[in-house]
Amino acid sequence: MTRFIFITGGVVSSLGKGLGSAVLGALLQARGYKVRLRKLDPYLNVDPGTMSPTQHGEVFVTDDGAETDLDLGHYERFTAVHTRKTDNVTTGRIYSDVLARERRGDYLGATIQVIPHVTDAIKAFVTNDLDDEDFVLCEIGGTVGDIESLPFLEAIRQLGNEMGREQTCFIHVTLLPFIKAAGELKTKPTQHSVKELQSVGIQPDMLLCRTEHELPKEQRDKIGLFCNVRPEAVILAEDVRNIYEVPLAYHAQGLDGQVCAHFGLESKTPDLTSWQEIAHNVSNPEGEVTIAIVGKYTSLQDSYKSLGEALTHGGIANRVKVNVKWLDSEIFEAEDKSSYLHHLQNVSAMLVPGGFGQRGSEGKIEAIRFAREHDVPYFGICFGMQMAVLETARSLAGLAGASSTEFGPCDEPVIGLMTEWVAGNEVKTRKDDDDKGGTMRLGAYPCTLTPGSLAETVYGQEHIEERHRHRYEVNIAYREKLEAAGLKMSGLSPDGVLPEIVEREDHPWFVAVQFHPELKSKPFSPHPLFVGFVAAAREKSRLV
Ligand code: GLN
Repeated sequence: MTRFIFITGGVVSSLGKGLGSAVLGALLQARGYKVRLRKLDPYLNVDPGTMSPTQHGEVFVTDDGAETDLDLGHYERFTAVHTRKTDNVTTGRIYSDVLARERRGDYLGATIQVIPHVTDAIKAFVTNDLDDEDFVLCEIGGTVGDIESLPFLEAIRQLGNEMGREQTCFIHVTLLPFIKAAGELKTKPTQHSVKELQSVGIQPDMLLCRTEHELPKEQRDKIGLFCNVRPEAVILAEDVRNIYEVPLAYHAQGLDGQVCAHFGLESKTPDLTSWQEIAHNVSNPEGEVTIAIVGKYTSLQDSYKSLGEALTHGGIANRVKVNVKWLDSEIFEAEDKSSYLHHLQNVSAMLVPGGFGQRGSEGKIEAIRFAREHDVPYFGICFGMQMAVLETARSLAGLAGASSTEFGPCDEPVIGLMTEWVAGNEVKTRKDDDDKGGTMRLGAYPCTLTPGSLAETVYGQEHIEERHRHRYEVNIAYREKLEAAGLKMSGLSPDGVLPEIVEREDHPWFVAVQFHPELKSKPFSPHPLFVGFVAAAREKSRLV
């Protein structure tokens, strides 16, 4: 029997509901259960693909090419279960499907209403496309009380009613704020939030209370009493230093044990050895490195969530703490070239991540030139590969007019829009006036590596598959000129048409990739490119 756990949030946003869900998934897995994690997002965008990363954080791409919420990244990093298109849905997607069906006449003349048509579509989403999982953890985005989330809450209420308590569990994540003047943690916001949830017919079975301080037992009992929850099912989620310590902390507070108790499952002891090892390695590094990330969305670190995590994983593999220095690429555009040097002091490696648009691109090219000329280990991801290619084209291949058609028409379209590419056996064609949403090369594509290249050594295999999210490609017509200038194409699509990886042989570590390796890195299996890159940074930090 598949059991459904619904996770809602109250009091404030950013409580780490996504992380909490991922951690519960990991803990249930550690007890030997098969899990699946899903997210229901109340906003009206059809998917987060067209949302600014500075507003909504990173867009996480799945193997099957869906642009999803960044919480799915947490789910994968903690459970290694590959998320799919069917694991994230928004109000916008639900409504557009319902309206498309209405236009097709599928509702046979019925008046279309939120209940039952929209709620049925939500319920179908929650219960469809499963593979005999023991648990489906379904997180509801937003905060209880938001107008947008009402249809989702109504749908999960109905599911709770239909399936019964033995198949469903409602967990509400709240905050216990600490009031300095009173020197106390306050439970009132939690009580109000639970009331709000009860007013839509949902009685939480468990509470996960985020707090900065320990809570006396009487207070915990009080929360249970006022919120109609068993006191043992009031779980304290105290802040910890590092997210990879959270599984151990929540387990110690009884989270997974109480979930099993709720479902009347016998209590197995979870195997948490790998989480203990990870937590130990993260807390006891042998050294540290500082890596500069030169990008545009540096103001909101959530816009590079997976990247930061993948660097931490590379650090775990190399037993170093990775400090990230976020640099806005525009500082490299100053007239006086020496003015940016102080930003790079004590930096042992540089990374230019994915990005969109012309603003700041010249600064990225300048930063890459510095890394190339000064033997600073360089890792380019997506846009960071395209800019590395432009840097070599302009500085070393005599192509002064080299540019990307993303910035407008140019003399040397070294980066350009492919009008066609092949996905599976299907040729996909894009036109200029196509919708902006969903027009990119998205999801997993295969890539063949050149034997003996750095890329092949790092991966330890010749055939790989990585996730993409971009519109533009390096133009293969420039291969000869770029390679003559020292930039080798060491990874190509199997048909040899799309450059996927470039690298330099005359540099300690200079690798740039068209895909997003950060999306597949996990703390217990760090991505090889991040392992190699952090190792090169560690080497460099020894030298300076
Ligand atoms: N803007 C570039 C493109 O669309 C790079 C995208 C990215 O870095 N994700 O191809």
